Amino acid sequence: MTSSASRLAGRTALITGSSRGIGRAVAVNFAQEGATVLINARRNDKEAEAALQACRQAARKAGHPDSGHRIIEADVSSSADVDRMFAEATRTGPLHILVNNAGVQALTPGDGDDNTELERILAVNLLGAAYCARAAIRHFLSRPGGGVVINTSSVHEAIPKPGFLAYSMSKGGLGNLTRTLALEFADRGIRINSVGPGAILTSINDSWRGDPDARASVESHIPMGYAATPEAIAPVFTFLASDEAAYVTGQTLYVDGGLTLYGDFKENWSS
Ligand code: NAD
Repeated sequence: MTSSASRLAGRTALITGSSRGIGRAVAVNFAQEGATVLINARRNDKEAEAALQACRQAARKAGHPDSGHRIIEADVSSSADVDRMFAEATRTGPLHILVNNAGVQALTPGDGDDNTELERILAVNLLGAAYCARAAIRHFLSRPGGGVVINTSSVHEAIPKPGFLAYSMSKGGLGNLTRTLALEFADRGIRINSVGPGAILTSINDSWRGDPDARASVESHIPMGYAATPEAIAPVFTFLASDEAAYVTGQTLYVDGGLTLYGDFKENWSS
């Protein structure tokens, strides 16, 4: 049976932090489009195994052969782990796509005096993405064909998030990581872009996603009026990974129900 969804056929994609949430939805969408998916998780636990099974099932349903989807354990904030992960990811063939998706969020008030969380969040969200992007680029340059890097940024690349200094810094930094690497490698077949999600229903938002009142309050700030599922935004990553986006590099594509449109200006209040 031939597949109608095969925009990523023949490609291998490594997706960091893909045992759940946005990363898992992207992995499943990629598998559905014919990619061999390498699921990165800090631990090869039940969650990672369930994500792997979901990828296999999606690929099978779309008519793709089992092409070696697997789990690679690594903490992206450790450069030694990242080196080991890339050695494993490229052991049986070339890697074509990296999605830097692993991310954490926690309060880091602007007047705080404990730097532990500040350092941890920047190490995972920003340094981890840089370690992985550099390792992927070295691999892409080592063989013909180029490659693609997609970073999971956030609306907080552009919108400040008071109380969450480290998260805002990390996502702002990802924007410049994207543009800098995109320019450096634009003429060598390597495209680097970001997706900037708005409010997505994942465990990072456990403080409000299961509480109807808190969720309604969050959704009242979204111009489209609702928070999206990870599955609803995953196809945007697939588009950026595919040849349909062959002429797109250095961009952050916000997928946010209009959050970056300055909703407060819907009714004119300034003049
Ligand atoms: P999530 O908590 O469900 O997923 C985060 C994933 O990252 C998990 O699989 C976790 O195990 C993994 N991870 C964390 N630290 C890691 C490390 N050191 N090494 C390897 N993996 C690690 O949350 P999510 O919402 O799916 O988050 C995914 C990405 O999306 C993050 O970068 C987050 O900042 C970004 N994002 C999320 C939202 C949202 O509303 N959910 C909005 C904007 C951006």
